[in-house]
Amino acid sequence: MKNPLRKGHKLHSIVFWKCPNCHEGDLFTHKSPYILLKSLDMPKECSNCKQDFEIEPGFYLGSLWTSYPIVAFLVIGLTTYFYLYLEMKVIPFFLLLSTILFTLQPLIMRFGRSIWINIFVKYKSKK
Ligand SMILES: [Zn+2]
Repeated sequence: MKNPLRKGHKLHSIVFWKCPNCHEGDLFTHKSPYILLKSLDMPKECSNCKQDFEIEPGFYLGSLWTSYPIVAFLVIGLTTYFYLYLEMKVIPFFLLLSTILFTLQPLIMRFGRSIWINIFVKYKSKK
Protein backbone atom coordinates (compact mmCIF):
# COMPACT_ATOMS: atom_id res chain seq x y z
CA MET A 1 0.00 0.00 0.00
CA LYS A 2 1.33 3.42 -0.97
CA ASN A 3 1.94 6.01 1.74
CA PRO A 4 -1.27 8.10 1.94
CA LEU A 5 0.78 11.09 3.14
CA ARG A 6 2.85 11.21 -0.06
CA LYS A 7 2.58 14.23 -2.30
CA GLY A 8 -0.27 13.75 -4.75
CA HIS A 9 -2.59 12.19 -2.17
CA LYS A 10 -5.33 14.36 -0.66
CA LEU A 11 -4.20 13.46 2.86
CA HIS A 12 -0.85 15.16 2.17
CA SER A 13 -2.59 18.45 1.48
CA ILE A 14 -5.01 18.05 4.41
CA VAL A 15 -2.45 17.00 7.04
CA PHE A 16 0.36 19.37 6.05
CA TRP A 17 -1.99 22.29 5.16
CA LYS A 18 -0.69 22.54 1.59
CA CYS A 19 -2.33 23.88 -1.53
CA PRO A 20 -4.81 21.22 -2.77
CA ASN A 21 -3.88 21.94 -6.39
CA CYS A 22 -0.06 21.58 -6.31
CA HIS A 23 0.73 20.34 -2.75
CA GLU A 24 3.60 22.85 -2.59
CA GLY A 25 2.32 26.25 -1.42
CA ASP A 26 1.18 26.79 2.15
CA LEU A 27 -2.56 27.04 2.78
CA PHE A 28 -2.10 29.34 5.78
CA THR A 29 -0.01 32.49 6.16
CA HIS A 30 1.60 31.44 9.44
CA LYS A 31 3.04 27.98 10.13
CA SER A 32 1.84 27.93 13.76
CA PRO A 33 -1.92 27.70 14.38
CA TYR A 34 -1.37 29.24 17.82
CA ILE A 35 -0.66 32.78 16.70
CA LEU A 36 -4.03 33.84 18.02
CA LEU A 37 -6.22 36.10 15.86
CA LYS A 38 -4.05 35.18 12.87
CA SER A 39 -4.58 31.45 13.06
CA LEU A 40 -6.91 31.37 10.05
CA ASP A 41 -5.09 33.95 7.91
CA MET A 42 -4.68 32.56 4.42
CA PRO A 43 -3.00 34.01 1.34
CA LYS A 44 -5.41 34.96 -1.46
CA GLU A 45 -3.75 32.45 -3.78
CA CYS A 46 -1.10 29.75 -3.77
CA SER A 47 2.46 31.09 -3.85
CA ASN A 48 3.44 28.25 -6.20
CA CYS A 49 0.58 27.65 -8.66
CA LYS A 50 -1.68 30.69 -8.11
CA GLN A 51 -4.65 28.50 -7.12
CA ASP A 52 -7.32 30.81 -5.69
CA PHE A 53 -7.85 30.02 -1.99
CA GLU A 54 -10.93 32.27 -1.66
CA ILE A 55 -13.00 30.41 -4.22
CA GLU A 56 -16.11 32.48 -3.50
CA PRO A 57 -17.16 34.96 -0.77
CA GLY A 58 -17.84 33.09 2.46
CA PHE A 59 -16.36 29.90 1.04
CA TYR A 60 -14.99 28.77 4.39
CA LEU A 61 -18.35 29.01 6.18
CA GLY A 62 -18.83 25.55 4.72
CA SER A 63 -15.84 24.30 6.67
CA LEU A 64 -18.15 24.18 9.69
CA TRP A 65 -19.45 20.98 8.08
CA THR A 66 -15.97 19.47 8.12
CA SER A 67 -14.82 20.69 11.54
CA TYR A 68 -18.03 19.58 13.26
CA PRO A 69 -17.34 15.84 12.74
CA ILE A 70 -13.79 16.35 14.09
CA VAL A 71 -15.23 17.90 17.27
CA ALA A 72 -17.92 15.21 17.52
CA PHE A 73 -15.29 12.48 17.14
CA LEU A 74 -13.13 14.09 19.87
CA VAL A 75 -16.07 14.54 22.26
CA ILE A 76 -17.24 10.96 21.79
CA GLY A 77 -13.69 9.60 22.19
CA LEU A 78 -12.81 11.74 25.22
CA THR A 79 -16.18 11.04 26.87
CA THR A 80 -15.76 7.33 26.36
CA TYR A 81 -12.24 7.35 27.80
CA PHE A 82 -12.40 9.84 30.68
CA TYR A 83 -16.04 9.68 31.75
CA LEU A 84 -17.06 6.12 31.04
CA TYR A 85 -13.76 4.20 31.23
CA LEU A 86 -11.90 6.19 33.93
CA GLU A 87 -15.20 7.16 35.64
CA MET A 88 -14.28 10.81 36.22
CA LYS A 89 -16.71 12.99 38.12
CA VAL A 90 -18.93 15.22 35.97
CA ILE A 91 -17.51 18.67 36.83
CA PRO A 92 -13.80 17.77 36.44
CA PHE A 93 -14.65 15.89 33.27
CA PHE A 94 -16.36 18.92 31.70
CA LEU A 95 -13.49 21.17 32.77
CA LEU A 96 -11.00 18.77 31.20
CA LEU A 97 -13.10 18.36 28.04
CA SER A 98 -13.52 22.14 27.71
CA THR A 99 -9.80 22.70 28.18
CA ILE A 100 -8.84 20.09 25.61
CA LEU A 101 -11.34 21.36 23.02
CA PHE A 102 -10.41 25.01 23.65
CA THR A 103 -6.72 24.19 23.25
CA LEU A 104 -7.27 22.19 20.06
CA GLN A 105 -9.68 24.71 18.50
CA PRO A 106 -7.13 26.42 16.20
CA LEU A 107 -6.02 23.02 14.89
CA ILE A 108 -9.61 21.84 14.42
CA MET A 109 -10.54 24.97 12.45
CA ARG A 110 -7.46 24.63 10.24
CA PHE A 111 -8.14 20.97 9.50
CA GLY A 112 -11.78 21.85 8.81
CA ARG A 113 -10.72 24.42 6.22
CA SER A 114 -8.08 22.14 4.77
CA ILE A 115 -10.58 19.31 4.30
CA TRP A 116 -13.20 21.73 2.92
CA ILE A 117 -10.99 23.17 0.16
CA ASN A 118 -9.75 19.67 -0.69
CA ILE A 119 -13.34 18.61 -1.40
CA PHE A 120 -13.57 21.20 -4.18
CA VAL A 121 -10.02 21.43 -5.58
CA LYS A 122 -8.35 18.43 -7.19
CA TYR A 123 -4.60 17.78 -7.26
CA LYS A 124 -2.88 18.49 -10.56
CA SER A 125 0.67 17.22 -10.90
CA LYS A 126 3.28 19.39 -12.61
CA LYS A 127 2.72 19.88 -16.31
ZN1 LIG B 1 -0.57 25.53 -5.35
